[in-house]
Amino acid sequence: MDFYAPVTALKGVGPKAKEYYEALDIQNVGALLYHFPRAYISYPRPVDAPNKELEGQRIAIYVTLDAPVSVKKTAKMDISIATGHISDTKIELIWFRMPYMRSRLFEHKGYIFYGDLKQIGNHKFQIMQPAVFDPNEYDGMMRRLHPVYPLTKGLKNQAVIKAISQLFDNEALVREYLPDTLLKKRRLNGFSYAIRQIHQPDDYEALDQARNRLVYDEFLSFFIRRESTLEENISIPNEWNFENDSYYNKVMESLPFSLTFGQKETLSDIRKSFAGDVVSQRLLQGDVGSGKTVIAFLAMLLAVENGYQAAIMAPTEVLARQHEKTFLSYVKMFDLPFGVVCVTGSMPRQERRQVNERIKNEGGLFIIGTHALLSEGMEYHSLAVAVTDEQHRFGVRQRKLFSQKGVNPHVIVMSATPIPRTLAMILYGGMQISVIKDVPAKRLRTKNAIISADQRDKAYDFIEKEVRSGHQAYVICPLVDASEQADAQNVTEYVSQLKSYYHGKLSIGMLHGRMTPAEKDAVMKDFAEAKIDVLVSTTVVEVGVNVPNATVMMIEDANRFGLAQLHQLRGRVGRGEWQSFCMFVNNSRSDAAKERLSILVESNDGFHIASEDLKLRGPGDFYGVRQSGDMDFTLADIYQDADIMKKAAEDAKEIVSSDPKLESDEYRLLKEHINDMDSVIYTNL
Ligand code: ADP
Ligand code: MG
Repeated sequence: MDFYAPVTALKGVGPKAKEYYEALDIQNVGALLYHFPRAYISYPRPVDAPNKELEGQRIAIYVTLDAPVSVKKTAKMDISIATGHISDTKIELIWFRMPYMRSRLFEHKGYIFYGDLKQIGNHKFQIMQPAVFDPNEYDGMMRRLHPVYPLTKGLKNQAVIKAISQLFDNEALVREYLPDTLLKKRRLNGFSYAIRQIHQPDDYEALDQARNRLVYDEFLSFFIRRESTLEENISIPNEWNFENDSYYNKVMESLPFSLTFGQKETLSDIRKSFAGDVVSQRLLQGDVGSGKTVIAFLAMLLAVENGYQAAIMAPTEVLARQHEKTFLSYVKMFDLPFGVVCVTGSMPRQERRQVNERIKNEGGLFIIGTHALLSEGMEYHSLAVAVTDEQHRFGVRQRKLFSQKGVNPHVIVMSATPIPRTLAMILYGGMQISVIKDVPAKRLRTKNAIISADQRDKAYDFIEKEVRSGHQAYVICPLVDASEQADAQNVTEYVSQLKSYYHGKLSIGMLHGRMTPAEKDAVMKDFAEAKIDVLVSTTVVEVGVNVPNATVMMIEDANRFGLAQLHQLRGRVGRGEWQSFCMFVNNSRSDAAKERLSILVESNDGFHIASEDLKLRGPGDFYGVRQSGDMDFTLADIYQDADIMKKAAEDAKEIVSSDPKLESDEYRLLKEHINDMDSVIYTNL
């Protein structure tokens, strides 16, 4: 079985499961090997007795049942109830839609129940939907860390564990590809050991080591790819001629706002490099709301009015469509004689063919799209400028991907991720860097508040007040420990609760990862047109969405997000001329959680927030939400893993300078590995 063997080659994986895996972009066993756990659960030691300090916490407890499980039938569902006592304290265990619990649990027998404890009376506690374990089995569970995989509808965690376990002993899959010298120099685990430990860790320390090894590999591959394309990049002569700038000047004069200092500086940087001897590559960093889109538009206009094409690539279809709308409105507002087309993966075939045809034959064209812009069939008439928005990995590689098509555009990578300059220089070595430090002056600073769960009604009333005065709101849903599927259910339930709270007075929309791109688009369109007052969403609204009329954001479970991510989310409001508000719901009672969130309340500066966040994190947080999602690394986090990153960058430089094509015996397997990984990462192209 090699890297590209189908997943059906594994025991227990049939055609149905194959479809589930495909939904997760896992096309072969190689990709499955890199389907890492999202989290690890370690089961806690059972508590002796419930007490009010434990209220709200996830606990394990040994309970002997007083009586057989009783099942109540209501109109909506079956409710199963079991009870037990620990001295004079009563504990109730409740399951919904699981009538079979009656035949699984027996009176006078003892079990371990695992779930969230709730106090419902003086000596009375409850756990809803607890997991049930045999006490002996639980002993074993306590010692290990249990992987929790990203799942999809129909696919169970246990099934993924079973499938992946079959890969560990497959020599072809887990053979070492790094030379011994490197392993020794960087004190890295062997690959087969690291792979096993990342999936099924013996303990936290082993997990940490395994993760280090795999993070190193990820950075090393990244830098080797970059180093080996750098040379070619630097030396491509610039044959684009941007002589005409009359439309550009006309637009500059009639912009509805005056550009900030940072925007002006960036534009002048860009124009200088457009006039250079070689095609340029530039990283454009600017905090959320700093106005990067209009800069992209102006830079692209220079290409377009000279008869060339210019493209902007967005990470999602929602964002691509949003850019399309913005560009169409600019073209109309400034009366420009240029076309605007948009390419996405989910477009009807007929339409896609027509758009592709235009891209192949028409100069003077604005092109917008997702990474479908890089797909095989695409041919460009004259692509002179390529911008990527919020998607670094493509940004770093897109020159190569485009040049494989025979085009060599100037490349601009736009990012709102605040990367300190030293790190940016490592990650984007060979690129020029522009930073927009200021945000448009007219804008008011967002007012922030940390609220507790029992102040939720007040928050809802506040949202209603804002809606009454003509504005809109986002509510970011609580995080769920499971799949996108669970997220979807969660959002759906939240929406129905909110609807009943508002008694139909406000119109409420929802957005989550399981909706099709067309469904998401329709919702975003309605929200942008103010047909939706309150948008309940998972974090899919995180990057780039721009609806200036939205002035309130309420983030449930804020304590469970990383600060940088919260900052990105908050950036969805405060984009218009009105006062905006962000409410962070803190469900934790710990002082640490409050301290972390107060950093956000006190600062609106992304760089400051990212560095403070890092200082306050403990080792356990390493496996939580990653801070720098837009880098598209699977495991690596540019902040947390900055040290490993620096080492990998050094090593990559050395390797490429000694063996540019990685042809020697020493690096042959590494090269194969990098190619294999490309197929995993870019399956969607
Ligand atoms: P981001 O940098 O986060 O991508 P956008 O480009 O989406 O930000 O811009 C956010 C909003 O700010 C948009 O509505 C845009 O029209 C507006 N904007 C951009 N530049 C300025 C400016 N100089 N003055 C006022 N508003 C601006
Ligand atoms: Mg943006």
